[in-house]
Amino acid sequence: MLSHNSPGDIHPNLWPPFTQLNENSRQERVLGGDGALLHRDGLPPLVDAISSWWVTLHGHGNIKIAEAIAAQAKKLEQVIFADFSHPQAELIAERLSALTGLQKLFFSDNGSTAVEVAIKIACQWWLNKDQPRSQIIAFEGAYHGDTFGAMAIGERNLFNAPFEKMLFPVKRVPWPATWWGDEGVEDRENLALRKLETLLETPTALVILEPLIQGAGGMAMVRPEFLQAVEKLTRQEGALLIADEVLTGFGRCGNLFAFLRAGISPDLIALSKGLTGGFLPMGVTMSKAKIFEEFIGEDPKLTLWHGHSFTGNPLGCAAANASLDLLEKNPQSFENFEARHLPHLTDLAKHPKVTKPRLIGTIAAFDLKIDGKKGYFNVSGKVLKDIAKKQGVFIRPLGNVVYLLPPLCISDCQLEQCYASIQKGLDNL
Ligand SMILES: *Cc1c(COP(=O)(O)O)cnc(C)c1O
Repeated sequence: MLSHNSPGDIHPNLWPPFTQLNENSRQERVLGGDGALLHRDGLPPLVDAISSWWVTLHGHGNIKIAEAIAAQAKKLEQVIFADFSHPQAELIAERLSALTGLQKLFFSDNGSTAVEVAIKIACQWWLNKDQPRSQIIAFEGAYHGDTFGAMAIGERNLFNAPFEKMLFPVKRVPWPATWWGDEGVEDRENLALRKLETLLETPTALVILEPLIQGAGGMAMVRPEFLQAVEKLTRQEGALLIADEVLTGFGRCGNLFAFLRAGISPDLIALSKGLTGGFLPMGVTMSKAKIFEEFIGEDPKLTLWHGHSFTGNPLGCAAANASLDLLEKNPQSFENFEARHLPHLTDLAKHPKVTKPRLIGTIAAFDLKIDGKKGYFNVSGKVLKDIAKKQGVFIRPLGNVVYLLPPLCISDCQLEQCYASIQKGLDNL
């Protein structure tokens, strides 16, 4: 029996994520989803313009993925992966290995753990080679998840401040984000590269980055040229390069993987979010053979002693294979998405309250021109969110950064509705 809390009230037994709890906190009840739509309890449907926190890749309720999960559930729902493999795990490993060029796949449960595993592998790799290195380099504004290791390499801010003393040290390089009409980008890139070069004078275990776009850090996009220069410096000094593709993987940036579009070749990549089409939580860390080889041997010290209860969960693997089928069958669904955004964003960019418009693949973003404090706690984004919701569109600005990151199935008409709702919000700000 559901308790009769009034619509929008947080259920008395629930503690929602990333939500400040006070008398204004709200959590609406959703009863169903199909395609780009979310069906609320007693309220009109909403276009899910941010793919339910960037995971819903093809759309809600995709029948192919739902059927693949159901069929797998009847065969084998779970098995201990230390001792047993299964066909769906082998299939997704073969496919992702072929698509990424990174031979070895390690399963975990979500984006944060996929990143944790990548960091642990990279650090232990140096130990296993008897050349321990401890310096870790990440970028300003980075977000890699909410577990401790992922928090440590992410930007330090109010969200992880309570744990500051418990986070291992990380060196930072500026992230030279760019946008349409940006003329200072090369100077900022050079500044960042000089900083990286200086840091790399100290032996470095790994450099970790979000290829092409920092998501939670504000949909901050960089040029492929910059990432190629980062890779070159990283290689010169022998450090490992990790690409956190948790957001960017599976077509989000217009290619199947952002590192392919960026023209770089990371040693390790972390995947999650779109991996299962957004149906089930699962993370994957892919590594090059040269990494894996250092973990083979009789000495137990060489082993990666890491595993989760649900490692390689067959339902997740079945969903991942079904999702990959859909992407491979219809690559235009993500390859052509940029062209779908383009005319709308071009229009929106003319609005006096819009600055720094930017676009890559399925992700369109801009900053609100605002007075007062920038960043996550600026309220203008929230005002815009509320207006858009009244127009039947769900967005979730990051402070003054407004973005659309819709599921691939969104219709032209629904996409138009998203832009119209933002336009209306801008006019009423
Ligand atoms: C969301 C995200 C993560 C964390 O993934 P979770 O599944 O939320 O733990 C890590 N890295 C990036 C780039 C992300 O966008």
